[in-house]
Amino acid sequence: MWPRFPDGFKRLKTGGADGGFTYIPSTMRIVHDKEVCANHGQCVGAAPELFKFADDGSLIVIDPNPPEELREAAQDAVDVCPVLALAIVED
Ligand code: SF4
Repeated sequence: MWPRFPDGFKRLKTGGADGGFTYIPSTMRIVHDKEVCANHGQCVGAAPELFKFADDGSLIVIDPNPPEELREAAQDAVDVCPVLALAIVED
């Protein structure tokens, strides 16, 4: 995973003798581990725009690649999950 700098961007090494870098927009992806998820719903409460329950009670990630403006909500959901079933990765 690339370190993010500035916020919402990731650093990409361009190579060359100067060892230069450039910054490109990051693409956030929410990873949900269904094997670990206990369907308690804290993530739905923290970020209802990103998570909901299906009719069978299983968790649905509404948008696994949410826009940058939902990063804080996604991070809140990751932070409240008691079984660490959620993560944010940068593609
Ligand atoms: S908070 Fe975690 S365990 Fe609970 S429904 Fe969400 S992902 Fe599953």
